[in-house]
This record gives sequence, structure tokens and C-alpha cells, in this order.
Amino acid sequence: MRQQVISRFLEGAGGGGASVKIVLTGYRGTGKSSVGRALASLLRLPFIDTDEEIEEREHRSIGEIFRNEGEAYFRRREREVIRALRDKEGVIATGGGVVLDPENVEHLRAHGDIFLLYASERTIRERIMNSDRPPLTDLGFEGEVSALLERRKIHYLSAADFCINTDEGTVEEICHGIRRITMEGSTGISERERALRFRVFQGLPPAEMDALETALLRPPRQTVRLCAIAGYPVRHSKSPHLYMHLFQRYSLNYHYTRLEDPEISRIMQCFGELDMRGLSVTIPFKKAVIGYLDEVSREAEEIGAVNTVIQCGGRRYGFNTDWVGVREPLRGHSGERAVVIGAGGAAAAAAYAALSLGMDVHILNRTIGRAKELAARLGCSSGSLDDLESISAGVIVNATPVGMNGEDRTPVKPDCLRKGMTIFDLVYTPPDTHLIRIARKKGCETIAGTEMFVHQAVEQFRLFTGIRVTPDSVREYLT
Ligand code: NAP
Repeated sequence: MRQQVISRFLEGAGGGGASVKIVLTGYRGTGKSSVGRALASLLRLPFIDTDEEIEEREHRSIGEIFRNEGEAYFRRREREVIRALRDKEGVIATGGGVVLDPENVEHLRAHGDIFLLYASERTIRERIMNSDRPPLTDLGFEGEVSALLERRKIHYLSAADFCINTDEGTVEEICHGIRRITMEGSTGISERERALRFRVFQGLPPAEMDALETALLRPPRQTVRLCAIAGYPVRHSKSPHLYMHLFQRYSLNYHYTRLEDPEISRIMQCFGELDMRGLSVTIPFKKAVIGYLDEVSREAEEIGAVNTVIQCGGRRYGFNTDWVGVREPLRGHSGERAVVIGAGGAAAAAAYAALSLGMDVHILNRTIGRAKELAARLGCSSGSLDDLESISAGVIVNATPVGMNGEDRTPVKPDCLRKGMTIFDLVYTPPDTHLIRIARKKGCETIAGTEMFVHQAVEQFRLFTGIRVTPDSVREYLT
């Protein structure tokens, strides 16, 4: 069956590799139905509109369903329809709120390519002003469009493989643009061949280089999306192993590699030329990368570091997921007093996370000036490492490298550790650090640095794909 559809699709597309499930997402008025119908006809594929599918099942209009049953009922029906479409081939136009549910995204993404259609707020307003849909908020017509676009923005971006502006160009031109991407990818084969010779790939082990070449140059995977860890050095990173497993698990046409270079400019040039999808940014570029981005999330701006970048429609968006990696394991400790040791990037993320949980946060550092500066920026207290004894902390977070690589040193005097305290050591090579071992002996609750990695990866994967993985599935691929 799949082979038949592929053949039919290739005839319609004029040859070359292509996907057979094309999903269109975006806000109302961005052209999903009109583009979807025309695209299906161009590619000789079935066309499915999820809203029409729901109306058919319910024998009434979407407007009536909203008015009579409310939004929650509609979303349930929508979820059922999306689930049933998981293995269907064709062009699928989705309702504007579909991407809010990670489970929907998971079903839509399986074996498919997602094109986000977007347009300016003004265009959207003009296109939907005569619609009979009941409002979803009490903000008025213009206010609702603005608020929902803002609220859904990250969901649209994360759930997209490609972003297409429908402000300009005819429906026919837009369809031809999408067809070209499904046949050739968003960059040409010669650009991809050239980029593979970039210095950032020179350190890749032969097997990883082969896999990258296969992903980028061999049909029928033209719509493959590329993500990478970017830093210097990155050769020991576990991220490629983790992400390749997750991509496979969710049947995503994605590939994850490494970009290693002492110059961030060369990394970002490659990121742009290959129209890469996402980056996990690590030492020493978490600050420097900000200069290469179009937008930075509020959290990343306040922390002063970006560890996640996604690219869509030529724009680059920066996020910080490190703080989520500290917040999740500390969730049960809201309101307690927390000491963060260190004043670098990890400490900023840890202090931000503790503050977000309503904790009373003290930043202590070897160089007091740095602790003061960070504390003033985030709005908490600061001091020297010696102050630890006088602060009755419920939680201590080590955000220094002390204890790395099996070193039997701790950044805090063992006398300061007492039963009942929670010790979170962000060092994760190895996970069982000297500090963790001593804390355990003293009767403290301990949290290993791998937990930060796990939870930040859950959030990073959601930003890359719109899919929510469980912490356990990340842990599974780290061992
Ligand atoms: P960073 O920006 O270089 O900051 C390092 C901090 O540690 C500085 O405040 C520094 O103090 C302090 N420090 C260094 N050596 C010290 C020593 N011998 N005694 C006392 N303090 C010392 O590094 P970072 O990016 O924040 O990373 C810190 C650590 O967090 C890393 O080494 C890594 O193990 C861990 N980390 C873990 C994860 C994870 O996923 N688990 C993620 C990121 C980082 P001064 O200001 O006085 O130099």
C-alpha cells in the first residue's frame, strides 16, 4: 500500500524522493484549507481537513460544537480524529489549536512532515473577520487574535519542520514551494555537499560522518531535519546517542550530529547554510550564541544564557532549558531556603529555578564579586563559601566543577551537611560524586547531576519537536 502511494506521489511530484504525509498547521486564516486542497490536487494525494472530519462525525458545524458543548469537548473529538489519522497518507490540514496537545503532535509527526503556515496578524484578521466561530476568550476579536498567536507561538514553532509565510504569493506559488521542499529539501543538494566539507564536521568519527552524509545526501530522505550539539569540545557528549534514539522511537525524519569548533561564527554559519532545525548549545557558547539569534525567551534573557536554539522560516529562537533541569527535581522543595554554590552559567540557571519555586535563595561563590553580581541581577542574596555554616539551608546545589572526573573533593565542608538536607550536585561525570557519597552517609536526600541533564533534555526535545517524552525514556537512553 505504502509503495503504491509513494509511486503515485512520485508521478505527481515529477520524480525524486518525497514524503506521503504532509501536515499543515497554523492559526486560523493562514491558508491551511485552501493551500491543503490545492497541494493535495497538485501531488495527487487525498486531502483531509481535521475540522471537516469532526463536523462530519458530529453532523454539525464547529461553531455549533463550541457553542453547545464547549472547547474541552471539541478538543477531545479533535484528539480522536488526529489519532485515527496517524498512519494515513495525504495532505492533512489541522485546526488552529491542534499543536497545543503534545500527543496530537506525536501522531501528526509520525512518518510525516509538518509545514507551519504563518501570516501577519493583520492578514489573519482580514481573512477571518467574517467567520462564525464563537470566541475562545473574552478579549474581543483583535485582542483574541494577538493573545492566542502569542500563547501558541512556541507550540507552532516546536511542532514544525518547515515554516511557510502565506502573506504573499498565490496559493499555487505556495504549493509549488512546499512541493519543492518535499522533493529537494529546504536546501539544495550542492549546498549540503559543500557544507559537509566545513571545518565543524572535521572531527566527527568516520561512522558518524557516514551517517550524516547518508542523512543529507541520499534520497528519499530529502526532508530530513538536522539537529546538533554545538560547543568546543563536544566529542564526548551523550546527546547524539540520546536524540538519535528518541527520533527513531517517534518515527521522525531527523538526524542529530555534532558541530565542534572554537569559533561560534563557523558553527552558526553551518547552522544557517544547512537550514538546520535545532542546536543544543554547550560550553563555551551559551552566552555568545545570543548574538546570532533573532529572538530570545524571557527566561534565557534573565538567566543570561541560551542552551537551545530552534530555527524556522530563517529565524532563530533561543531558549534555556537548564533551569527546567534544576526545577523539576526540586519541585517538592518549594518555599525552602536554598544555597547555590558557584556563580557561573549553571549557578544562574539553578538560582533562577529555585527562585521560580518560591525558595529563599543564597548564591555563594569563591569570587564574591561574581556572586554579588549574579544575585543582584536575579534578586536574591549572596556571600562567600564560608557563609554556608551560618545559613540554615534546606537545599544545597553544587554548581561548580568541583568533584568532576572522580576528584575526591567537595565544594562544601562535610560538617555543613546535616540529616534532612537535600544535596543536588550538578556535576554528572560521574553521577556518584564525592559530595553525593558523603551527603548520603550523613542522611541527606541526594540528587545526582544526571537528573538535571534528563529534565533539561525532556524540555529541549519538546522545543525541537513539540513531543513530550517522559524522564524515564531519556534515562533509558543515557545508560
Ligand atoms: P562556569 O561558568 O565556569 O562556572 C564555574 C563556577 O564554579 C564559578 O563560579 C567558579 O568560581 C566555581 N569554581 C570553579 N572551580 C572552583 C573551585 N575549585 N572551588 C570553588 N569554586 C570553583 O561553569 P558552569 O557552566 O556554571 O558549570 C559548572 C558545573 O556545572 C560544570 O562543571 C558541570 O559539572 C555542571 N553542569 C551540569 C549540567 C548538568 O546537566 N548536570 C549542566 C551544566 C553544568 P569563580 O567565579 O571563583 O571562578
